[in-house]
Amino acid sequence: MIFVTSPYLPPIEKYMKYVEGIYDRNWLTNNGPLVKELTVRLEEKLGVQNLLLTSSGTMALQIAFKIKNLANKKVTTTPFTFQATYSALEWQGANVDFCDVNKSTWNLDSDLLEKQLASGHRPNCIVPVHTFGNPCNVEHLAKLQSQYGFDVIYDSAHAVTTKTDDGKSILEHGDINCFSLHATKLFHTVEGGGITFKEADELALAQKMINFGLDGEDAASPGINGKLSEFHAAMGLAILDDLSKIEEDRQQQKDLYLKLLESKVEFQQLPLDGKISPSYMPVLFNSETELLNTLSQFNDKGIYPRRYFHPAIHQMQCVKSQGKTWQLPIAEHISQRVLCLPLFFGQPKSQIEEICSFVK
Ligand SMILES: *Cc1c(COP(=O)(O)O)cnc(C)c1O
Repeated sequence: MIFVTSPYLPPIEKYMKYVEGIYDRNWLTNNGPLVKELTVRLEEKLGVQNLLLTSSGTMALQIAFKIKNLANKKVTTTPFTFQATYSALEWQGANVDFCDVNKSTWNLDSDLLEKQLASGHRPNCIVPVHTFGNPCNVEHLAKLQSQYGFDVIYDSAHAVTTKTDDGKSILEHGDINCFSLHATKLFHTVEGGGITFKEADELALAQKMINFGLDGEDAASPGINGKLSEFHAAMGLAILDDLSKIEEDRQQQKDLYLKLLESKVEFQQLPLDGKISPSYMPVLFNSETELLNTLSQFNDKGIYPRRYFHPAIHQMQCVKSQGKTWQLPIAEHISQRVLCLPLFFGQPKSQIEEICSFVK
């Protein structure tokens, strides 16, 4: 069976060397040496500062939303994302609103947001997603932020290694970036996540928050348990050396898909310069019927691509049951027709050729 992705596992000897160290120290969690090492090495690798590792990408979002005090605040996000983006906002008690996506980039449409703002809409915060690693229009959003004064928290779950054309990490933009280190992501710690902060004092606050709010023995505010363990950090460290190799391999596979499927399906519009994390291989069909036909033929052959992201968030049961409705025609149209094809390290070329011949 072939799934949409297959987690990368490092050589077992390499992982075990880190695990042996954990056994020697008998220090299993609570900001141990491996978590500290992974934090520093990840900051270097990505070219970022003020990084905090957390127990999941969802936890990273929860902490970011808590830091910005989003309970009962107006927050605008994209309807075309993974459920976690929305769910974490709702969990934090935010009043969630949506802005439709751009029909080519599939990201929150900053022109549309500008229209909403001009007509009096005043969110306290926006939560755009770099969907499938594709960077949002960060410059335009920064301009709107300085004009209207809202916070910007990016869900960068797909874009940990995405770089803008000046070679800088996409995580340099916005006030806070959250990412996921889940097993299915490009770089992972089995379960895990991380946050980068523009402001060092927010990092300091978050460090306490993920440890029950404790500051020494006392706590100035309540917290949660959002810590990454040493075993999870060990997996991350064992994979980190291979990250460039993993990316090159997946990029080559994406290039092959793009070549073989050119003019057969539509693709997400990506910037000409910069680097996109090769996290997913999404293709857009002409119609949902075409997609469903292809999908059922795939499934008959034991191939399981995924309908990321379907249904669109505002069409999920948990949103509809609140009785509010949104007109988001572009997100609906795209979410009905996008299929993410299998993409993972070490995927045989012949398998991609077979998948492409099916699609054709
Ligand atoms: C995976 C993902 C998350 C959640 O990350 P977890 O580590 O699984 O909690 C959040 N947002 C997006 C867009 C994701 O794809």
